Amino acid sequence: MALNICEFKDIDIEDYDAVVVGSGFAGSVCARELAERGGMRVLIIEKRSHIAGNMYDEYDEAGILVHRYGPHIFHTYDQHVFDYVRRFAGWIGYQHHVLADWYGTYLPVPFNKNSMEIAFGEEKAAHLIQKLIDVFGDERKVTITELREADDPELSEVADFVYKNVFLYYTQKQWGLTPDEVDPSVTARVPVFISRDDRYFQDTYQGMPALGYTALFEEMLSYDGIDICLSTDAASIFDLEFEDASEDAKLAAIKIKGKAFTGPIVYTGPLDELFCGRFGRLPYRTLDFVYETYDEEYKLPCATVNYTVTEDYTRITEFKRLSGQRSDKTTIMKEYSRAYEDPDTQIPYYAILGEENAAHYQRYLSLTSSLDNFHPLGRLAEYRYYNMDKIIELALQLSDELLAEAGKQR
Ligand code: FAD
Ligand code: UDP
Repeated sequence: MALNICEFKDIDIEDYDAVVVGSGFAGSVCARELAERGGMRVLIIEKRSHIAGNMYDEYDEAGILVHRYGPHIFHTYDQHVFDYVRRFAGWIGYQHHVLADWYGTYLPVPFNKNSMEIAFGEEKAAHLIQKLIDVFGDERKVTITELREADDPELSEVADFVYKNVFLYYTQKQWGLTPDEVDPSVTARVPVFISRDDRYFQDTYQGMPALGYTALFEEMLSYDGIDICLSTDAASIFDLEFEDASEDAKLAAIKIKGKAFTGPIVYTGPLDELFCGRFGRLPYRTLDFVYETYDEEYKLPCATVNYTVTEDYTRITEFKRLSGQRSDKTTIMKEYSRAYEDPDTQIPYYAILGEENAAHYQRYLSLTSSLDNFHPLGRLAEYRYYNMDKIIELALQLSDELLAEAGKQR
C-alpha cells in the first residue's frame, strides 16, 4: 500500500486516537507501533514537504542517491533495534571509515595505532603505543579528556598532538567552541582507539538500507490507520491553553480544530518553537550543505574525510561510498556549521549540550509536565545528542507505555 497523505483542512480530528508531530525515526516508529499493535488511528503532522526527518535521501540530478540533511550511517549494539529496522527494508553491510586530512596526509579517525605510525613514524609510534597499552590497556578507547589527564610527558605529547590536529579546529568549526568548552560527552563520541581497527564505529550491527532511508520510511508509514499531513507546522494547528496568564503557566490543553485533543500527542520538534521562544530561543548549531558532482567514478579515498586542520567546512562525504551505488559520476557534500538563528529558514541540527542550556530547556519542559497526554520525544524535543538507534529504542519504549496505558496491546 502507499502512504496516506492528506490535507489538514480536510481531516476530522475526531477520527484520530493519537497525534504525532514529526516523521523522523522518533515520530514514525511511534506512529507505526500505535497503529499496528494498538489498532489506533494516528495523524502525523510534518512541517517539511516529505517524510523521514533528517534521514531523508533522494536521487540528485546526476542520479546519485544523496542524503539531504547530513550523512546518516546506521550502527547499533542493540539487536532488537536492528531487527526492528530490518522489518522495513533490505540492508547492505557497510562499515564506515573516516580519514582526517592532516595537511594533505590522511590519518584514520578515530585516532588509532595506524594514525600514530603515520603521525610519529613507526619507531616512535611503537614506543608510544606500548606506553598507551601499559597505561590504558590494549584495544581500549580513551577519550581525549582522559588522555590529556594522563600524568606522563610522552602520553602528554600524544594527547597534545591529537588535541591540536584532530579535535581543536574541527570542534571550533563545528561548535564555535574549543574542545575544552564543549560538553565532554561530545568529543567522547570519537575517542582515541588503542587498536588497528580503522572503522569509525565498532557497533555489532552496521549497515545502510539497500534502497535508501526514504524508501524504508515509506514502508514503515504505509499502513492502514496512519494519515500524514505534510508541509504542516504543528505550531500553526495547535491552539495551546494555559492554566493561567503568567509566563511560567503550564499547559492545560492542546486544542486541535477547536477541541481539546485528549489522546496521546507525541511531539518530536523543538520545544522552544512550540512555545514561540517565550524564554528565549534554545541554542542549536545549524549546517549548510554544498553539493558537487563530478564526471569521475570516485573523488574521495573513503566515505568521509574530516578537515581537522584546514578548510572552512568540517567534512566531505561521498555518497556512493555509503550506498554502494555504481555510476561513472559521483556527488560529494561539504558541511559548514554555524549558529542557528532563524527558525523560518534554518534547521536546528545539534543541541548545544551544557548545564546552562539544559536548565533553559528544563524551563520549557516544565510547561508540559501538567499535560499527561503530551510526550516530547527525540533529538529536538529532548534537546539531546542522540543517534538513530537510541531514538528507535526510546520510541519503542514510549509506544509500549502508551499502548499499555490505553490497554490496547494486542
Ligand atoms: P528528526 O529526524 O529531526 O525528525 C524530526 C521531524 O520533526 C522533522 O521531520 C521535522 O521537520 C519535524 N518537525 C519539527 N518541528 C515540527 C513542527 N513544529 N511541526 C511539524 N513537524 C515538525 N545518527 C546516526 O545514528 N548515524 C549517523 O550517521 C548520523 N548522522 C547525523 C548527521 C547529522 C548532520 C545530524 C544532524 C544527525 C545525524 N544523526 C546520525 C542523528 C540522527 O539524525 C537523529 O538521531 C535522528 O534524526 C533523530 O530522529 P528524530 O525523529 O528525533 O528527529
Ligand atoms: N571531532 C573532532 N574531530 C574529528 C571528529 C570529531 O574534533 O575528526 C569532535 C567534534 O567536536 C565533533 C564531535 O567530536 O562534533 C563528535 O563527532 P561525531 O563524528 O560523532 O559528530 P557527528 O557525526 O554527530 O556530527
